[in-house]
Amino acid sequence: MPRRYTARVTTQQQDAPPIVADDPVYNATYTRREDLSPDLASFWVKMDGPAIPFQAGQYMTIGVKQGERMVQRPYSVASPPSVADTEGYEFYVRKVLGGTFTPLLFDLPVGHRMRIIGPKGKFTLLPDDDRQHIFISSGTGNAPFVAMMRELLIHGTPRPAVMLNGVSYAHELGYVPLLEGWERSGEYPVRFIPTVSRPNDPSNEGWTGRTGRVEAILAPVLDELGLTPDNSIAYICGNPDMIVAAEQTLLDRGYPEDQVHKELYWPKGKEPRGLAAADLASAIEMAEANEDQ
Ligand SMILES: Cc1cc2nc3c(=O)[nH]c(=O)nc-3n(C[C@H](O)[C@H](O)[C@H](O)COP(=O)(O)OP(=O)(O)OC[C@H]3O[C@@H](n4cnc5c(N)ncnc54)[C@H](O)[C@@H]3O)c2cc1C
Repeated sequence: MPRRYTARVTTQQQDAPPIVADDPVYNATYTRREDLSPDLASFWVKMDGPAIPFQAGQYMTIGVKQGERMVQRPYSVASPPSVADTEGYEFYVRKVLGGTFTPLLFDLPVGHRMRIIGPKGKFTLLPDDDRQHIFISSGTGNAPFVAMMRELLIHGTPRPAVMLNGVSYAHELGYVPLLEGWERSGEYPVRFIPTVSRPNDPSNEGWTGRTGRVEAILAPVLDELGLTPDNSIAYICGNPDMIVAAEQTLLDRGYPEDQVHKELYWPKGKEPRGLAAADLASAIEMAEANEDQ
């Protein structure tokens, strides 16, 4: 008989059935968590048996059963494929206000059982490509790039990269110690260019980096670093509006379509499913946050 308990619930989930603690469909355990902020965290999930192999840039779908229903979502793997057997899969996740799965995930205790399936996705690096790699992301869209760079480093074949990541607030920037460490030491030849879209917000006080959305700083960065279709390839991941805008900038500069690879985290114009249940202030906050991510 599956064990059940009621997880701490958020506004949208008060009437929902409890999360099933153990079930035959579960094939993995959520083993570790690192919080960057109340709404951003890395979660590690380890399979019961040997890990399913994947390529850096691909995603896995993780979920839990709520009552009779499987609640699950796809996440890019942020950890390198080489450590999947020993450490599991790392996912870097934003808690979406009004969302269905992420409020559950953020309330789940470490050690909880889960289901993981995959991998899926074609957002992977081309073989043997020594051009400058322009990695453009909003919010947690940096996850597949972190996996790619980590894996390349493990194989001793790092590729030159320019990593642009846009967030609303500086405290939402993920993997900063890793990326700045690589850049400082030269261990990975990456130029890390974070940007905040709300520079006047008090929480961004003291921010001395770039400002504006990531798609807005793309053109100046291309100019400053001399990046052209002849010497670089672009990968874009995250918010669909950002992806459309960044892609347009690249196409306008002559990048052929097959030199611009994209991974959309949600379809353009889509709102979280639980939004109707969220109050108006939360809904506005969420819509603005999504715009920035
Ligand atoms: C291929 C793929 C890879 C993904 N990888 C990641 C990842 O590595 N990290 C991650 O946080 N999310 C990732 N996502 C998004 C993830 O699958 C879920 O959509 C997200 O966690 C919201 O789930 P939810 O059930 O809480 O919200 P839902 O009720 O499903 O609502 C979805 C809505 O939430 C908003 N939303 C979704 N994702 C985000 C986000 N990351 N930031 C801000 N708003 C968002 C959008 O408005 C979207 O329409 C990925 C999606 C895809 C398709």
